[in-house]
Amino acid sequence: MKRDIDTLRISVTDRCNLRCNYCMPPEGIEPMLHEKVLTFEEIIRLSSIFAGLGIKKIRVTGGEPLVRKDIIKLLGQLVDISGIEEVAITTNGAYLSGFAAGLKEAGINRINISLDTLRIDRFKAITGSEYFYEVLNGIKKAKELGFSPIKINTVLMRGINDDEIIDFMGFSLKEGLILRFIEFMKVTPLWNEDYFMPIEEVKDIVCKGFGLEKTEYPGSGPAQYYKAGGGIVGFIKTDENNCQRCNRLRITSTGELKLCLYETGSFSLNELLRNGTSDDRIRDIISAKLCLKEEVDYRKWEWGKVYMSVLGG
Ligand code: SAM
Ligand code: SF4
Repeated sequence: MKRDIDTLRISVTDRCNLRCNYCMPPEGIEPMLHEKVLTFEEIIRLSSIFAGLGIKKIRVTGGEPLVRKDIIKLLGQLVDISGIEEVAITTNGAYLSGFAAGLKEAGINRINISLDTLRIDRFKAITGSEYFYEVLNGIKKAKELGFSPIKINTVLMRGINDDEIIDFMGFSLKEGLILRFIEFMKVTPLWNEDYFMPIEEVKDIVCKGFGLEKTEYPGSGPAQYYKAGGGIVGFIKTDENNCQRCNRLRITSTGELKLCLYETGSFSLNELLRNGTSDDRIRDIISAKLCLKEEVDYRKWEWGKVYMSVLGG
């Protein structure tokens, strides 16, 4: 592979039990037809092909991965693939307390949980749901079961939750979690320049309260990590090209290969899987595409036309 790519993000469903207003419209988005969504067999087949191409880590995402039927079974099968050293999951946490033990048994250790506010009224306003305490319970359960690391993904929006930066730092330090502040990406009907808060501003606020000392964190991908207040905090900048730091590929729930989050086109692996193409041939085709890969200019992205729940974040 041209870049040092070792991570594959797989969206296992476009469906979600929340309606985060920075991710999708309040009415949700038209669900993909079931027959278009990759089956477990297809996900495992593709993952094995990618393992043969040097992928070592798989992150399962969505939509909300925990709403996919029999997800634990799928995760166990991913863990068993030869060459895959680590399988992780990104979840909104709403169903986590019920699934945490199963995840652990399936061999999952690393978990990212999205949480954008520590206030129940805001949680409802942002996610359109009542799952606030369920998410907190999910975090507690994950801690009890020894998941490590547990990362909290927090999308910061000016005028919506930017007054919680210090609270989030206090919460994550107290709970021993790795907090990651994410810059709001322009991918949603909520998008409005006023909500955008440059990550540098967030960093300044954290620095004033806790100090920041640059540190490396294994498999950090697009996040930049710092030691702060006795813990670790990450910052993810989204309005710039991160090509040099990017170590990942993406597959959407319908089997579209995305070489870059900002790529406007995609390539259907689903079609290859279903038209009788052999694994070796699929591997060669993917390999050729990776060699051709050029840097994608994030400014050319079709803002507002692609939803994160479809891309998988
Ligand atoms: N449902 C799961 C969750 O929320 O963790 C997994 C899928 S979600 C699309 C993956 C990540 O994308 C989440 O951490 C979410 O906060 C992030 N995300 C979604 N829309 C975003 C946006 N407009 N800007 C920045 N991050 C976004
Ligand atoms: Fe669902 Fe995650 Fe999007 Fe929120 S960010 S709507 S939880 S997919």
